Amino acid sequence: MMKHEFFMKQALAEARKAEAIGEVPIGAVVVHQGEVIGRGHNLRETEQNPTYHAEMIAINEAAAHLGSWRLEDCIIYVTLEPCVMCAGAIVMSRIPVVVYGATDPKGGCSGSLMNLLTEQRFNHRATVIKGICQEECSMILTAFFRNIRKNKVARHKGVVKWDMAAKEEEMKE
Ligand SMILES: [Zn+2]
Repeated sequence: MMKHEFFMKQALAEARKAEAIGEVPIGAVVVHQGEVIGRGHNLRETEQNPTYHAEMIAINEAAAHLGSWRLEDCIIYVTLEPCVMCAGAIVMSRIPVVVYGATDPKGGCSGSLMNLLTEQRFNHRATVIKGICQEECSMILTAFFRNIRKNKVARHKGVVKWDMAAKEEEMKE
């Protein structure tokens, strides 16, 4: 348990990097034999790329590090329950253990809407451990969206470049 919290704190540090640049604060790390070999934070707005989720970036970095698409001895830590794309990438990369913090009842595909990680019809299944640092992982999201509400006036003045209200709708629990 302590080990999981240690690495979830590193995923949270990634989430704070996203927050600092106005991205929805979600972070992930991939750990191999006790070492972080991939890190990522949400960059969807910055890159205007729908695949730039924290987990995708961390998985890409980990695969490059190992020189293999098979991340068989790895654990991925992510602050928010993986979505349909990221859960799919976890299945495709054969990651055996997924640890996440906050649940995502609107979009989570690792137990909430469905669970692609334990789906018996796939040839790979992962062990899912949820709720590690849950409070901290969900608080950073709640605070982010509370800030957006406060900044709505700024948005009307054109200060905030993309439509954060739409994003808030999307993420709202
Ligand atoms: Zn995702």
